[in-house]
Amino acid sequence: MTGGGRAFVTGISGQDGRYLAERLLGEGVEVHALAHDLEPLPDLPGVELHRGDLTAVEEVRALLVDLAPDEVYNLAALSSVARSWEEPDLTARVNGLAAAGLLESALQVQDKLGRPVRFVQASSAEIFGQPDRSPQDESTPVRPVNPYGAAKAYAHLMVDVYRRRDLHAVSAILYNHESPHRPPEFVTRKITSTVAAIAHGRAETLALGNLEARRDWGWAPDYVDAMVRAVRADVPRDYVVATGVSRSVRDFVAAAFARAGISDWQPLVSVDPEFVRPADPTELVGDASRARTLLGWSPTVGFDELVGRMVDADLARD
Ligand code: GDP
Repeated sequence: MTGGGRAFVTGISGQDGRYLAERLLGEGVEVHALAHDLEPLPDLPGVELHRGDLTAVEEVRALLVDLAPDEVYNLAALSSVARSWEEPDLTARVNGLAAAGLLESALQVQDKLGRPVRFVQASSAEIFGQPDRSPQDESTPVRPVNPYGAAKAYAHLMVDVYRRRDLHAVSAILYNHESPHRPPEFVTRKITSTVAAIAHGRAETLALGNLEARRDWGWAPDYVDAMVRAVRADVPRDYVVATGVSRSVRDFVAAAFARAGISDWQPLVSVDPEFVRPADPTELVGDASRARTLLGWSPTVGFDELVGRMVDADLARD
């Protein structure tokens, strides 16, 4: 769907929503997006914003029928694992039930119009929980260990249910993906913003949780690119989207301080039990072979470059 067509995007004010909107608008796609009443409207010229709550399934369905989009991107989510422990029921409604409602709406639009509606669900590596194999791929058992992962797992399974009903639905199992637009409740941005503050003399220490946790961190615009490729592929399938390389929180901290020109960083970092999670996947690393082979996708930004871009952006902000 290039040079025309209409897309409907949820989660427009998040990191990925912004990159996706820029990408689609650049292709000449008409972009409609749902923005929650409580959130400030994102500054995205060219995007048609519709106020609404994704958990109000019937209202969103009426909107979708009215808009009749060609592609639906479900990016909306309570996106923090940490917050999902504080609000497990809201997490279930937004990350799980609302996705199911949107899939049903897409199918109804498809049936009504008599032409395909394509759907992509932004799923998450957290659906695998504490996997016994590494790296994970599309055949890894879904066994989440936190409320965020469990709600995302339900949405992920529902994509397959609707695919069996002939909806062109795909689930992109996204590993952690970062950028200067990542909010600071995520460890990467927390690290880069605090390192920048320390470099500018505005903070003294960086307090973190588990420094040994390992993640497969990629560049957010690459993950948006993978979602677009996945939803437009001829055959709808699920795809792991990952770099295949895992690094520890400690590695991220070291790279961030190095970028800011601070070599003796150990005394500046402390471990605070407040930030240690009750159940935390200690290693998540994805095998994106299917996306590489079938979609021609590959990550364009490596770990050091990713950390560098985030630190530079935070240094320039301060
Ligand atoms: P997540 O993988 O979606 O939960 O992304 P986060 O960026 O929130 O967390 C990534 C990893 O960093 C997890 O294993 C956390 O336990 C670990 N971590 C260590 N210290 C912190 C911290 O201070 N804040 C956050 N958010 N995560 C931390």
